[in-house]
Amino acid sequence: MSFVNGLRCRECGREYPKAPIAGCEDCFAPLEVDYDYAAISKALSREEIASRDFSLWRYHELLPLDGEPVIGRASGATPLIRADRLARELGIENLYIKNDSVNFPTLSFKDRVTAVAINKAIEFKLEAVGCASTGNLANSVAANAAAAGLPSYIFIPDNLEKSKVTATQVYGARVIAVKGNYDQVNRLCSEIADRYPWGLVNVNLRPFYGEGSKTFGYEIAEQLGWIAPDAVVVPMAGGSLISKIHKGLREFEQLGLLKNEVSTRMFGAQAAGCNPIVAAVKRGSTEIQPVKPQTIAKSLAIGNPADGYHAASIISASGGWAEDATDEEIIAGIRLLAETQGIFTETAGGVTLAAAQKLIKQGRIKPNDLTVIAITGNGLKTQEAVEIESPAAIEPNIADFERAIARAAAV
Ligand SMILES: *Cc1c(COP(=O)(O)O)cnc(C)c1O
Ligand SMILES: [Zn+2]
Repeated sequence: MSFVNGLRCRECGREYPKAPIAGCEDCFAPLEVDYDYAAISKALSREEIASRDFSLWRYHELLPLDGEPVIGRASGATPLIRADRLARELGIENLYIKNDSVNFPTLSFKDRVTAVAINKAIEFKLEAVGCASTGNLANSVAANAAAAGLPSYIFIPDNLEKSKVTATQVYGARVIAVKGNYDQVNRLCSEIADRYPWGLVNVNLRPFYGEGSKTFGYEIAEQLGWIAPDAVVVPMAGGSLISKIHKGLREFEQLGLLKNEVSTRMFGAQAAGCNPIVAAVKRGSTEIQPVKPQTIAKSLAIGNPADGYHAASIISASGGWAEDATDEEIIAGIRLLAETQGIFTETAGGVTLAAAQKLIKQGRIKPNDLTVIAITGNGLKTQEAVEIESPAAIEPNIADFERAIARAAAV
């Protein structure tokens, strides 16, 4: 059973039926899914949710499917880890990592958005699915399309990490590498969505796609014991995830599922080489000035973010802030998380760690704030970014082993 009334324009409020469309015809603002919250509130309680299987579908009343999901049934339900060793390193007391680098099936938070969007494409009886991607979305759409038995068309910039391209092609996806950056790929996809009966998950299915990200916020609150945290640090590409985490917390509050009021400050993180949302926040503005990306954090390299205005608004309205990280700081961030907590994240996670470190130093995140850092992708996909020298081999005997250990100790 669905609790969706239809789609509604985020700016002017014009209503639309449930359909694969993303923008308002009047004002071009994004469309959002409109729910019957009064009915949802009767159907949902903490106990009811807690009694269900642990996957993102335990919140299905707040997701826009009409029927049962057929793919992505095991997505979401990732660990929230108390991170005391990292917290000591950063100088705070109450820190958690929400670890979506182990999401199923493709090891990034994008498995949440494709779980919703591809099931929706199936409900709309679209002939194929696809996306414009900076890498992780490509992996996730290709995998879930394969599981659904649908053809997929995946559009990527031609400079992506090899492992992300391989982890798309392996599913039999049609990968179209475009000579250009993500923003050019995305414009091409808008034209393709107008011309072909396909569901491009972050183009014409974008209102449904975005809803999957809310479950990242629901899980944080539930795993903290139905508590909204004081601060969340989130990596931003198009700016959708950070907005939807906040929307998720707000919905839980509205439905009476939380033990506290949502006064969560949202903190955004981008690479210094692609920081249009961070720059807007620092100017005290919500106007996005597009940039040409130049960063090792390719999964976040969107120079003209579709939800940038919305993300900057939510960051400011929530009392949060935004920071960026240089390539060197990104690599240091990856290593810090790995060495303190045993979690190997991709470049986006390095960005988030480095930004969190700066926000704590600036006093914007206080030592006793209940803080969650959003880790959204897996380090095995961007290994080339870290460039650690392979160990020199030893002879298979004790003497050579002891010489090697002594050499390492001397360094
Ligand atoms: C896509 C992506 C993001 C950001 O997503 P938006 O919703 O576009 O802001 C963050 N981290 C990783 C690893 C991603 O792949
Ligand atoms: Zn409108």
